[in-house]
Amino acid sequence: MTEIAVPERQAQEAAALRHLRNFVGNRFVAGGTPFPVIDPATGRQHATAWEADAAIVDAAVAAARAALEGPWGTMTLAKRRALLMKVADGIEARFDEFLAAEIADTGKPHGLASHLDIPRGAANFRVFADVVAALPSESFEFDTPDGGKAINYAIRRPLGVVAVVSPWNLPLLLMTWKVAPALACGNAVVVKPSEETPSTATLLGEVMADAGVPEGVYNVVHGFGPGSAGELLVAHPGVRAITFTGETRTGSAIMKNAAPYVKALSFELGGKNAALVFADADIDAAVAGLSRAVFLNTGQVCLAPERIYVERSVLDAFVAGMKANAEALKPGLPNDPGVDFGPLISAEHQRKVLDYYRVAQEEGARVVTGGGVPTLAGDAASGFFVEPTLWTGLPHSARVCREEIFGPCAAIIAFDTEAEAVRLANDSPYGLAASVWTRDLSRGHRVAAAMEVGIAWVNSWFLRDLRTPFGGAKLSGIGREGGAHSINFYSEPTNICIKL
Ligand code: NAD
Repeated sequence: MTEIAVPERQAQEAAALRHLRNFVGNRFVAGGTPFPVIDPATGRQHATAWEADAAIVDAAVAAARAALEGPWGTMTLAKRRALLMKVADGIEARFDEFLAAEIADTGKPHGLASHLDIPRGAANFRVFADVVAALPSESFEFDTPDGGKAINYAIRRPLGVVAVVSPWNLPLLLMTWKVAPALACGNAVVVKPSEETPSTATLLGEVMADAGVPEGVYNVVHGFGPGSAGELLVAHPGVRAITFTGETRTGSAIMKNAAPYVKALSFELGGKNAALVFADADIDAAVAGLSRAVFLNTGQVCLAPERIYVERSVLDAFVAGMKANAEALKPGLPNDPGVDFGPLISAEHQRKVLDYYRVAQEEGARVVTGGGVPTLAGDAASGFFVEPTLWTGLPHSARVCREEIFGPCAAIIAFDTEAEAVRLANDSPYGLAASVWTRDLSRGHRVAAAMEVGIAWVNSWFLRDLRTPFGGAKLSGIGREGGAHSINFYSEPTNICIKL
């Protein structure tokens, strides 16, 4: 493989299209097959990425292995933490470049990317640098059969080479949510970002190298899933653990490829989240909170509720409020003033969501608002936009109430009793998140505790403390990450028993 020096790459970026090469051992490498990266707000190509072949994936895994056997493997925790802090600083120093890259890949509004995606990218490194430093170690003294004593204590060792396979909806945020704890624990990573959003993972390579992170600690391979870089990476014998965020069926495919080597797995998968609005809720707060929950990032948030169960006596008021908020959203180009509603990620995803919009009507939905494609002028006319959409009148058994759509839409369904609301919310193969809206604190606790999910909010949504467990029940995932839960996944305890 021919190496491309960083300055040369930066010169390439000055050209009209960004060039996104694979990043191995702190260098951008030649080779692979070019593929276009599309700006979903305009439908036009804005970058070219190179799909990694088997040789590039091998080189990335080998570089990661070498890092573990080199200075990274013996680095003190204090020095590793200082490097992670420098990476966070580096993201902030190049905030505008990260912002532009994320916006070009996703088409998301400027305000959203600048308040959520990029700041969380930096925060992930700081949080996990702190978490790993504050962990207690366990030790037990016990009486041995011969009347003596022994002491056990556990030390934590990195797993080795960790594959990070990430999706397109919150690219930098979700990728660093896994890279940061993996590096904090002393692993080396090979990242396979989504083929739709390869830019910020590539830029992070430059930040890592500039921060002084040793060669091979952070590598990026671009490409697709089956038969491409994704599958080559997860099936690679040199990869010890796989941390994945994406669709449930992709998780299932990855599991099959991981099985021969019994790799450690952490999966954050799909959802079909429920929200429950009780008549005693602050209805204005519920409308505001759930409008944000349904439409943020054009509904492309794994935690977004696509089923909203509302106590019958407040149904009309709730629906009217949601409709008004949906119709106040302004779709358009990310940097246009006032735009707060972006496109879907791709033409394919737009087709899928519009298909569900059609199915909802075939299943008897009353379309409260939306259901089609907005009429937009200029460059946005060729973007992958859909209208924010709400339905009533659907039975809970409808396909659009059971299958993950991952679009800006929700079915609103009436309920009469708390027991019925809980039963409907839990009647799903998924179990990622739920949100409960009530002024009755006891009910809030009781209903939240009854939800078969990884995270249940009361009178809020997507309110996150990064030290707390995050993950899904049922088909929504395996394991938990966040705080010490991440450290438990990204490290392996060795119990040392000393006979005194
Ligand atoms: P996806 O499963 O299609 O792709 C995710 C990543 O996996 C991509 O990088 C893709 O190239 C790769 N991939 C695909 N097939 C593969 C294979 N066979 N082997 C290895 N890698 C493979 O998901 P997506 O469409 O990018 O993201 C949307 C999905 O992600 C939704 O289902 C959403 O609910 C889920 N999601 C879950 C969470 C969570 O925390 N639970 C967070 C965000 C998104």
